[in-house]
Amino acid sequence: MSDPGSSIRHCDVLIVGGGMAGASLALGLARQAPSLDVAVVESSPLDPSVDPQTQFQPSYDARATALAYGSRLIYEDLGVWPELARAATPIEHIHVSSRGRPGTTRMHASEHGTEALGYVVDNAWLGLNLVSALQETATHWLCPARVVTAETGSEGAQVLVEQNGEQLWWQTRLLVVADGGRSGLREQLGFSARRQDYGQHALVATVTMGEPHRNQAYERFADGAAVALLPHRGSHDYALVWTMDSTEIERRMALGTDAFLAELQQRFGWRQGRFEHVGQRHSYPLALEQVASPVRPGVVLVGNAAHSLHPVAGQGFNLALRGLMRLSSRLAGAADEPASLGQPETLASYVATHQQDVDAIVGFSDSLVRVFSEKGGFPGRLRDLGLAALDAAPGPRHWLAQRNMGLNTRRSSLGHD
Ligand SMILES: Cc1cc2nc3c(=O)[nH]c(=O)nc-3n(C[C@H](O)[C@H](O)[C@H](O)COP(=O)(O)OP(=O)(O)OC[C@H]3O[C@@H](n4cnc5c(N)ncnc54)[C@H](O)[C@@H]3O)c2cc1C
Repeated sequence: MSDPGSSIRHCDVLIVGGGMAGASLALGLARQAPSLDVAVVESSPLDPSVDPQTQFQPSYDARATALAYGSRLIYEDLGVWPELARAATPIEHIHVSSRGRPGTTRMHASEHGTEALGYVVDNAWLGLNLVSALQETATHWLCPARVVTAETGSEGAQVLVEQNGEQLWWQTRLLVVADGGRSGLREQLGFSARRQDYGQHALVATVTMGEPHRNQAYERFADGAAVALLPHRGSHDYALVWTMDSTEIERRMALGTDAFLAELQQRFGWRQGRFEHVGQRHSYPLALEQVASPVRPGVVLVGNAAHSLHPVAGQGFNLALRGLMRLSSRLAGAADEPASLGQPETLASYVATHQQDVDAIVGFSDSLVRVFSEKGGFPGRLRDLGLAALDAAPGPRHWLAQRNMGLNTRRSSLGHD
């Protein structure tokens, strides 16, 4: 390891990235293991007074996230749900269909014994509440500050942090990489991610429609593209996630408002009336990225740094959050013996509980992308039959709803297994 000099700082857990994953983990640790000394390093400033449309914060940007019902229960446990709920829109019904084809499936929260199937929350609102709650704990919140480099060794990791133009080394027993896979740190630490490009982009915006949403979400498939509309903010507003071939994205981003709304209307149809308004559009390239083994002695990758999925099933962050609570419980169990935090046994038992969930959700999301990317022919007809069959079968529909709500894995997600 490098000689960091005498001004070295020490902590038990250092989290690189205070985005949705890093901040949620830090809060989990503050609640479950308050004796641990935890630091979070976040490179982008989070200024609650600035409109998220005009400030770029890579995690708390202009997107909205569909939080599964199980994620609401986690945020209840972390004590932030009452605040989050003030600007969360419940999804009470989901309608899945193929445009111009017969198959349709509907899900209703009332059939599954919950008040909602999930909730739509602006990423900016999530960030504001997570960071505000964190600032009331003993967590060191270093922001804006950037991790420049890190090295691991038998004692944990040494991390070089840059803040206000100064560089300082931190010694930590466990380094958690929650940088979204953005900073090159995971490659520098010897992890390699398998990347599978879908050749698709997501176009994200808020749209206003003629008919009120009545807490209904839509997923509509047409010609290899998917239009997801999530009920949002005002009674007629939806968060739009339109996934499409990458060859189409530049043109659709550049379309004038009227032409854009006309194309969207043509893709989605008239079920909710006229598309009347669209807010600022944003685009994201889509790929499946996964690290085979997210742990090494002294270091663990979480959130998008460990696995990032296609947003078609709205599962990426919900899966990550369950993993973060599993990790937090494992680390809380090791808190009496801080030297064991980065030990292979501690981290291996976390991976053993989380990996099954990752494999199931990654497999589910990936096959959904493939099936719904079919433009017709036999796979397309099979999909239509599948949607119709699911609509008529309460058992499988309940199973699917439980999975989407993150409820069939909740017990283990909170570390009670
Ligand atoms: C279009 C779209 C829609 C989605 N919708 C949903 C949904 O409805 N439901 C769902 O569950 N999931 C959804 N997801 C997935 C979800 O957005 C991700 O799972 C989530 O953003 C991952 O968060 P993260 O904190 O791991 O990574 P990021 O959001 O990338 O955050 C990483 C953080 O690390 C910081 N950082 C990076 N490098 C450094 C460094 N060197 N030093 C310090 N800080 C650093 C960054 O500033 C950032 O704040 C969607 C994804 C997309 C693309």
